[in-house]
Amino acid sequence: MSESVISSSAPTTSGPSGWNLENSYAHLPAMLHEHLDPTPVKEPRMVVFNHALAQTLGLNGASLADQAAIFAGNELPDGAEPLAQAYAGHQYGNFTGLGDGRAILLGEQITPTGERFDVQLKGSGPTPYSRRGDGRAALGPMLREYIISEAMHALGIPTTRSLAVVTTGEKVFRQESLPGAVLTRIAASHIRVGTFEWATAHGDKEALRALADYTLKRHYPERATAEAPYLALLEGVMERQARLIAQWQCVGFIHGVMNTDNVALSGETIDYGPCAFMDAFDPATVFSSIDRNGRYAYGNQPQIAQWNLARLAEALLPLLHADEKQAVEIANAAIEGFKVTFEKHWLAGMRAKLGLFTEEAEDRALIESLLVWMREQKADFTNTFRSLSEAGNTMFNDDPAFAVWQAQWQARLKLQHQSADEVQEHMRAHNPAVIPRNHKVEEALAAASERGDLSVMQRLLEALAQPYKDREAQAAYRAPSGLAPGAYQTFCGT
Ligand code: AMP
Ligand code: MG
Repeated sequence: MSESVISSSAPTTSGPSGWNLENSYAHLPAMLHEHLDPTPVKEPRMVVFNHALAQTLGLNGASLADQAAIFAGNELPDGAEPLAQAYAGHQYGNFTGLGDGRAILLGEQITPTGERFDVQLKGSGPTPYSRRGDGRAALGPMLREYIISEAMHALGIPTTRSLAVVTTGEKVFRQESLPGAVLTRIAASHIRVGTFEWATAHGDKEALRALADYTLKRHYPERATAEAPYLALLEGVMERQARLIAQWQCVGFIHGVMNTDNVALSGETIDYGPCAFMDAFDPATVFSSIDRNGRYAYGNQPQIAQWNLARLAEALLPLLHADEKQAVEIANAAIEGFKVTFEKHWLAGMRAKLGLFTEEAEDRALIESLLVWMREQKADFTNTFRSLSEAGNTMFNDDPAFAVWQAQWQARLKLQHQSADEVQEHMRAHNPAVIPRNHKVEEALAAASERGDLSVMQRLLEALAQPYKDREAQAAYRAPSGLAPGAYQTFCGT
């Protein structure tokens, strides 16, 4: 393995704002990034600042919440070495060169506990990778990313997070003129499947190796010393992706744009574009307005994840074996294992949702027959599982098909020794009462974007912060939109 660029020296002491930035990514081979500063904006103004996240990062929220200029890119925090990252990607199956077209990595914040997180500005102006884009972002989509990523975090699902959103005092032009904004995104890293594809597509084996070594050291240190470290890397990424997608499936989350440039090697959910949570259960559900063939529909997510991992395996071929034929065999064997790994995580997640502590051979059939019933009934995904978790629930008592299933479930519960209370408590911890319902998210964004009223979003964020608790204040966030399935559309090119 080549010398790693992640310094293992003791963290430097931080200033009054708490910035403690390192720039390990900046020292990777030059073909992986372009050094440039964010483009200043006219009038930075703080819209939302995440004090809880600031604290875990070791940042002084009380002082930084007033420093919109930093989160707009007008001023740089101490220690920043800004850069745009290069990457490629398979978008809807087609390979393209991409890169950060509207984002700048400021550096990596080292937290008081020694963890390393990327601090990235999104919407920070044009870069060499902008192609025809303006490098900017509109307020609505940046607030949307803030809301959904924080909701995912509260649900216990690995995700990038949102530290701040500022408005720029400038307009951006999409179909219409919209207020411009910059989001500060915090991520374990922004290394994507597409980053590896970029290095391999350029035939730069040294950059590929440096990137792989860096990723191993940063995200999979326990695998860096394996006999075959690059195969171990691939297997580690597969394991985390399998677990992540299983978690998405268990809460009805639809990413919407699972291109390889939107798959993070860290195993975090990244790039909240046309994503949304499903209301009525239907595996064919798609929200993205441009996903006409349903490539990224709910029910396709596991297969697409495997397809994306096959692209990672392809990019890693030069490192897997000197002989290409043997490298392909190694890669194929690894990728085939995805299905089994995914099933393991999915079954574990679904068992928890049904209060099953033990494993029985019939569990899969029991889960699947509930899902068939839910699909036929167009049952609300979140509320169905949550109501099963509630004592004395009578939601579906008049449905004979449900009664048959419920009798099977009750019989299954008797095969384990846990009490009814324990079962319900377990189920409530795995079946959220509150998810970011599409109409509630839209309501919050409209109030913020059109009227400058942030109170609607603040109340929504509070409800989403404790999704497994069912407090009185959250009742208003539990009802489905009432929209016909398929009526809600989300948009790319945000
Ligand atoms: P996304 O669909 O957000 O994953 O972005 C796909 C690619 O398009 C990435 O390389 C982005 O940096 C780039 N991109 C998206 N929006 C813009 C924009 N407004 N200006 C420049 N590049 C953009
Ligand atoms: Mg992207």
